[in-house]
Amino acid sequence: TEFLIEVEGLKKHFPIRDGLFGQETGLLRAVDGVSFKIRQGSIFGLVGESGSGKTTVGRSLLGLYEQTAGRVKFRGVDLQSLTSKQLTALRPKMQLVFQDPYSSLNPRMRIGDAIGEAMLAHKLCSAAELRGKVDEVMKICGLSPQHYNRFPHEFSGGQRQRIGIARALILKPDFIIADEPISALDVSIQAQIINLFSDLRDDHGVTFLFISHDLGVVEHLCDDIAVMYLGQIVETAERDTLFRQPLHPYTRALLAAVPTLDPDSKPLAMAQGEIPDPSKPPAGCRYHTRCPQATERCRREIPQLRDVGEAGHRVACHLV
Ligand code: SF4
Repeated sequence: TEFLIEVEGLKKHFPIRDGLFGQETGLLRAVDGVSFKIRQGSIFGLVGESGSGKTTVGRSLLGLYEQTAGRVKFRGVDLQSLTSKQLTALRPKMQLVFQDPYSSLNPRMRIGDAIGEAMLAHKLCSAAELRGKVDEVMKICGLSPQHYNRFPHEFSGGQRQRIGIARALILKPDFIIADEPISALDVSIQAQIINLFSDLRDDHGVTFLFISHDLGVVEHLCDDIAVMYLGQIVETAERDTLFRQPLHPYTRALLAAVPTLDPDSKPLAMAQGEIPDPSKPPAGCRYHTRCPQATERCRREIPQLRDVGEAGHRVACHLV
């Protein structure tokens, strides 16, 4: 298998200050030793609640943060070994799609110009060629090129997300990080955007990191999935393995929260209580404060992410 992205032991810690310029009072371990690989042409789902560190992982992959420790490789090349010039040249190849594309669209810019903007900024085509390229990605993303001259407010949430995806896609990226790209959309529109992502993978060979708080969403889209809790991966596997045989109590709790249409399905053990403050993660297994199966050992000893059974299935839990 060829991996487009390899993440090894990634850590990103942020100092916590007392006020903007005050004393450093602690350390937020937003990402605390995360490793995974994304296969070329696949969609990798990164799932967790808010505060799990999933967004910080995404931003670190783009080189937007200086990481505290660890390595991110793109096509086998360590991003930290690149000069800023090399990194700039790589930028168009790695794109980010946000939850709310509206916030990144200039309300006074026509959407065709907004989609084409980055092409000119990166000098990837001439002004004369641009219109044809914008029309092409608009069609791929299900937008009518006749709407080139409209403004962002004239579009629905789902169409704006298509505009956001078109802006990324025009740069012919190898890799797109989509951070909660559908959670602001109506359920009926969500499926359309999901289909667009799978078409981009299947027909255009784009590799994705799909970040979501919802396991139900990633089930229909992702090839491989990692579940994060308080800055660490607690379980990772191929999609079918994870849904057929979830082993970590937290994964099981997330799955139990996914609505099901099957009246006979039994609810699995739910997570208890709120996610702890990420700046003060519990000792031992970080999940022990909410885990219905926690034992004395869980409070003391940190479970390591270990291979279990099927290829690529890894779990961090003393009971597994
Ligand atoms: Fe629960 Fe213990 Fe497993 Fe952590 S190690 S998930 S507390 S059983």
